[in-house]
Amino acid sequence: MPSPEAQNVMLHTDETFIRRTALATLAIAVMSAGSATLIHHYLEPDPYLMDLVLPPLMFLVFSFLWCWLYLRPESLQKVMRVSLITIFLGGAAFPVWTSLGQAIYLPDVTLVDRLPPMSSFPMAIIVIMFIFATPQTVITTAVVVWLVVSLPVLVYLIAHPTELWSPRGMEMALTLGPITGVVSTLVPFHRVLQQRLTSLQDERALMQILSERDSLTQLYNRRVAEEFLSTCVADAASKSGVILFDIDHFKRINDTYGHQAGDIVLVAVAMRCSQVLRKTDCLARWGGEEFFVVLQHVGAEAIERIAEELRLAIASEEIEPAGSVTASFGVSLIKSNDTIGSLLQRVDKAMYAAKTSGRNRVMTDKSLS
Ligand code: GH3
Ligand code: MG
Ligand code: MG
Repeated sequence: MPSPEAQNVMLHTDETFIRRTALATLAIAVMSAGSATLIHHYLEPDPYLMDLVLPPLMFLVFSFLWCWLYLRPESLQKVMRVSLITIFLGGAAFPVWTSLGQAIYLPDVTLVDRLPPMSSFPMAIIVIMFIFATPQTVITTAVVVWLVVSLPVLVYLIAHPTELWSPRGMEMALTLGPITGVVSTLVPFHRVLQQRLTSLQDERALMQILSERDSLTQLYNRRVAEEFLSTCVADAASKSGVILFDIDHFKRINDTYGHQAGDIVLVAVAMRCSQVLRKTDCLARWGGEEFFVVLQHVGAEAIERIAEELRLAIASEEIEPAGSVTASFGVSLIKSNDTIGSLLQRVDKAMYAAKTSGRNRVMTDKSLS
């Protein structure tokens, strides 16, 4: 089990997922452009110049983009922007506008014959954008793509009914018209879905905090400390040690200044001690005014020094309104044949010794010396 702090780190799984999806999409684009290159160059008997030039060009661009994203994952947004511009220009706008120009100005050329099979490209652009763009950007892009690519084709087809009523003409009209519209209506639905997922993630993170933390001090609770301790006890190689400390005469603080002042002292002690410890150490509220620390990779000298630093952090400055506050510390190291019970017994005994020999001091488990 990793340290509690490491467990608590929220992994950016969303980003990793989006990057992997983008890599897979680009890999498919590379394969599609590569296949189109081979088909037009070697299988098509009488290819158009555009079909000979565009697919290999797109193959090169997508291969470059795939390598760019693979080597520099942080460039995701840039890579996807360039990819979409490439699909938009190379796969949709350029073929549409050149084919339209030829169909309008050359008498024996028709759009349904000349236009490469690109009608699904605007849809592909919108669907790819669902993955990584905001809903507003998707809608704006959908509108721009529709105005630049789909609308001119639809206008042309309406003006040339014989082409519109051919199988290819109907397929183009349906895909660029209503079907692209249906896909675009998914944007608000996708947004709601995203919001629900985010709020579920937030709730889950909150539940985790509530189940792991003490509500007053925000330190780990005893359950987390015990879990962490049990993995350290099971793994003698982790060379772990524990510190148990208890605020001195805390009942007196409560009785003199009130329970609320006692709470303020507990929070202040927790904060001061957190500042002394490393992020990988587990500092927990063990119960009442007792605190417990589990430290990995420490020796006797280091853990005694850290306990002393904790003692000074508490005692060196007064805590308003209680004034001077001290604590007594017990220190022990985990031995290879230890159980949680035997370890707790030793560290408790050391802390008790600190109490009985005058308080405000660190006592080390005798069996260590
Ligand atoms: P010693 O030096 O021997 O440790 O004496 P002590 O007074 O600190 O120990 P004792 O066990 O007699 O008293 C602990 C007190 O801590 C009793 C309890 O009411 C109080 N306490 C426990 N939890 C809280 C809390 O969350 N807030 C406040 N304000 N007091 C608490
Ligand atoms: Mg006490
Ligand atoms: Mg106590």
